[in-house]
Amino acid sequence: MGEMEDLTVTECTRCPDLAECRSRIVNGVGPADADLLFVGEGPGANEDDQGEPFVGRSGTVLDDALRAAGLARADVRITNCVRCRPPENRDPRVEELANCREYLEREIDAVDPTVIVTLGKVPSEHLLERDVGVTGEAGDTFDCPVAGEPRTVMVSVHPAATLYDRSQEATFEETIQRAADLTGAGGQSTLGSF
Ligand code: URA
Repeated sequence: MGEMEDLTVTECTRCPDLAECRSRIVNGVGPADADLLFVGEGPGANEDDQGEPFVGRSGTVLDDALRAAGLARADVRITNCVRCRPPENRDPRVEELANCREYLEREIDAVDPTVIVTLGKVPSEHLLERDVGVTGEAGDTFDCPVAGEPRTVMVSVHPAATLYDRSQEATFEETIQRAADLTGAGGQSTLGSF
């Protein structure tokens, strides 16, 4: 089993295919007591290269939405369902999600966030343990036990969805604003005053 110091997995070979292809293990970043925890699917090429979640184009979309909601990237915690890049950016396999789940659960337990925002279909279905239509359910919150603890999970479309479907941009931004409002962090939405 991998060493886990300070929520950091330093070595792990539970998924032979991923361990062989990865450049590094990509751990979560951000305050260990953040109110908002974002969970993505898994590292892409940029993340594998730089060792940080959401640093590519998806990361820019996320950073922009956070800023619009009065938050900085440094205010929130960001992690992924799997910590090693799946080759060719394929979806993580069921057994890979299961192998990495302990690390994610430990991170959720330790951070104890007010809201967990699941970025895209894979993390939404992984935590809610059911089929999720992310576009239709974006911004909705669900009470859901994670590792036996009651948690509030907010479904979101993946930030990359806004890059190939402009109509998802507002959906994504409104979800992030709603998550910020729930935690009382950031600037309150002005939408209500219109
Ligand atoms: N997409 C994800 O789901 N996670 C990342 O870290 C980057 C892109």
